[in-house]
Amino acid sequence: MTAKSACVHIEAVETVKQAQRLECQECVKRGDSWVHLRTCQTCGATLCCDSSPNRHATRHAHQSGHPVIASAEPGERWLYCYPDDAFVEY
Ligand SMILES: [Zn+2]
Ligand SMILES: [Zn+2]
Ligand SMILES: [Zn+2]
Repeated sequence: MTAKSACVHIEAVETVKQAQRLECQECVKRGDSWVHLRTCQTCGATLCCDSSPNRHATRHAHQSGHPVIASAEPGERWLYCYPDDAFVEY
């Protein structure tokens, strides 16, 4: 990836994983709603953002140790690393 260097985790992302479906896979199971979507760059899970009631993406990052998410919102192209609090547009 050619983004400005942010941290080793973001630099390790060669191809940004895109959302398979534009829905939070955990909220869908529970019948909850969400605000924005993020896609885990380690396992490809698409989960909801911190503005959503369940904050599944952040919870997933902490529980799984998967460091980097991408925005799954159409038109948004950025990556965020939790352990380094690093943000990069691509
Ligand atoms: Zn990092
Ligand atoms: Zn969710
Ligand atoms: Zn993951």
